[in-house]
Amino acid sequence: MFESLQNKTVIVTGASRGIGLGIAKRFGQAGLNVLVVSRSLADAQAVAEGIGANASAFAADVSEESACQAMVNAAVERYGSVDVLAANAGIFPSARIEDMTTADFDHVIATNLRSSFLSTKAVLPVMKKNGFGRIVLTSSITGPITGYPGWSHYAASKAGQLGFMRTAAIELASAGITINAVMPGNILTEGLDGMGADYQAEMAASIPLRRLGSVDDIANAVLFFATREAGFITGQTLVIDGGQVLPESSAALA
Ligand code: NAP
Repeated sequence: MFESLQNKTVIVTGASRGIGLGIAKRFGQAGLNVLVVSRSLADAQAVAEGIGANASAFAADVSEESACQAMVNAAVERYGSVDVLAANAGIFPSARIEDMTTADFDHVIATNLRSSFLSTKAVLPVMKKNGFGRIVLTSSITGPITGYPGWSHYAASKAGQLGFMRTAAIELASAGITINAVMPGNILTEGLDGMGADYQAEMAASIPLRRLGSVDDIANAVLFFATREAGFITGQTLVIDGGQVLPESSAALA
């Protein structure tokens, strides 16, 4: 149905666990070379080994410009080019506004939002040279559509990614590069495990499809945005949430 992405190269940030791990595996199955990126080299290595010979690990803190550049350099040295960037790394610590420090706020913005800019900027020269590129950001429903106490910094970062994306889409279009975003709802990951069973049960009850999402639900959408056939789609978002944002009230879920 879709043209093969075999032998193309993808960088997946935040790929040592959770959604990023799912994205990396999915691209590995599709035959791409996969650069598995996280701050922990050991964790990234374990994932790369699980994917196979077409994957390798790189340690980078994507909130830092030099690390993003080194990440792209590594992909080019190992695989010759970069065709796809899945900018997925993110954190979601919880703090209410009155307890949140400036450092807390800045750390979340740097990890979730500045990283989108830095990784996009680092990969641009290679993609421009190729006249082809696919950038897929992992945003969220939290921020662009919904809110949740304790996540004002996180919500700002996830909404900010979409603002960045819309102007980037215009700037990059003439070079044959698209940039889109997936907006996951509540997806079962190690990160979400930390929120506890009560949170997960509360969320599942508020989702019309009555389950939390899987990492594959997100990975399949990211893979679609990376295809040649998705080449006329840019600056767009795809909500993947089991319908969570739809009910107007809890009565609407009955
Ligand atoms: P997770 O299980 O906690 O995994 C986060 C990944 O990001 C790990 O691989 C982590 O590895 C990496 N990471 C964190 N900070 C980094 C940094 N500064 N530089 C490089 N890598 C870094 O999280 P997740 O639930 O899969 O979430 C992944 C993305 O999906 C995030 O952007 C999140 O906002 C978004 N999202 C998740 C959900 C959900 O329900 N799970 C919903 C909506 C959106 P290291 O710690 O080794 O660096």
